Amino acid sequence: MTASLAAPARATLPSRLSWTAFTLQEVVRGWRLPYAPAARIDALQARRVRAIVAHAYATVPFYRDAMNERGLVPGDIRSAADLSLLPLVTGAALAADPWRFRSTAVAHEPLLELTTSGTTGHAKRIWWDRAAVFRARAAGVHQRRIISEILGRSRGSRVLLVVRRGGTGDDVRAFHDAHSLLADPSASGIAAISPEDAFEHNRSIVNHLRPDVLMGFGSYVGALYRWAQRSGRAIHVPKLVWHGGEQLPDVDAELLAQRFGIAVRSSYQACEALRIAVECPPGGGLHVYADQVVVRIADDAGRTVAPGQRGQVVLSCLTNRATVLLNYAIGDVASMASEPCACGRTLPRLERLEGRADDLVRLPDGEVAHDSVLLSRLYAVPGVVRLQLVQETLDRFTIRVAHTAELDEATLRERLTSALRDALGGRDVRIDVAIADRLAPDASGKFRTVVSRVRDGATTVDSATR
Ligand SMILES: [Zn+2]
Repeated sequence: MTASLAAPARATLPSRLSWTAFTLQEVVRGWRLPYAPAARIDALQARRVRAIVAHAYATVPFYRDAMNERGLVPGDIRSAADLSLLPLVTGAALAADPWRFRSTAVAHEPLLELTTSGTTGHAKRIWWDRAAVFRARAAGVHQRRIISEILGRSRGSRVLLVVRRGGTGDDVRAFHDAHSLLADPSASGIAAISPEDAFEHNRSIVNHLRPDVLMGFGSYVGALYRWAQRSGRAIHVPKLVWHGGEQLPDVDAELLAQRFGIAVRSSYQACEALRIAVECPPGGGLHVYADQVVVRIADDAGRTVAPGQRGQVVLSCLTNRATVLLNYAIGDVASMASEPCACGRTLPRLERLEGRADDLVRLPDGEVAHDSVLLSRLYAVPGVVRLQLVQETLDRFTIRVAHTAELDEATLRERLTSALRDALGGRDVRIDVAIADRLAPDASGKFRTVVSRVRDGATTVDSATR
């Protein structure tokens, strides 16, 4: 996820007070929801489905046209299950024309704009209205309750973020700050480390702050702790690593859990849906924020599959009235749990989420570069539609790119080369740029934005040296 907007102007005090009150009210309303009877959760979802469908039909060009073409009216979609009557929307469709998914009713209100390159490598723009942003903020309280349960205490836990500077989280926090009086506990005087910095630098921050929780890029945390272990450097061990739903390589999960005795849990969110699901204290599954989003698992044709069966994650965001996304295939794979969870929460539960795989690029001097850092720089070059970064050897890279011809080819090559070189800290590497008309998924049907041929070899070495 990437974004790069200036801090939004601060709203008036009465307005900030009113959004603060709204958020607290949402926290209170949602307090018992994770344990509510299924019928109550279904009824709440159905109400929100009907409201967002009516809004989409009235004000969102894509859904009005799609429903008219299918002879549907809002009254035909009464419940979460009925959302599958709508066409399956892909990331490519959203990337191609974000305005088709944007409501005409939000032109005059402040919006949070997020941009993402995501798993599919398509640059997408998503706008969020204030009520949706603050509903997501309220749901964050639920996540903190879970963290407190895992840590065994409700106050005073230190969280250190592991994020890219200027990433989506920063934009969301700046928006909270501009429109409410809610300072994020982890955001004021924010403690964060970034994969842009050297391992040694980040180790010294971890040792200085001694956090209870490291929250963010799980695969980077894995790489940091593996580096510390291999090089014999002492590093503070947190109680919990909380990662963002990306696919944590098994070697990393094992290293953190077995070697260091750290609990590893995750939440699932995206620019397209700020709260999707959250893991609970026992672990092993992610409870869906059913008041914020409808999640179903579908086969390739878009038909809902039975619990326990693997398929694509299709979500409908119930809260966002700016960019409306219903029946949206987000590009991840999972199955829905069929058994109730041991934790007592009744919210539907995803299991075996195969989210995006974070790809760390190994550098010649033993450091790593995180794909979000590299991609945010490369996507900032004008005219880039889709790209793929291939690390051929430790010091040789190929950027495959499809572009809109906004820059001539020579300039495009030069800009991409220098953007990557900068992102790699000026290291002496060879960079080739291959311009393509289109970039196709690999044989498995999955498009990989970063392909590291080195990583695949190094993983074997890692396993051998654990
Ligand atoms: Zn649970």
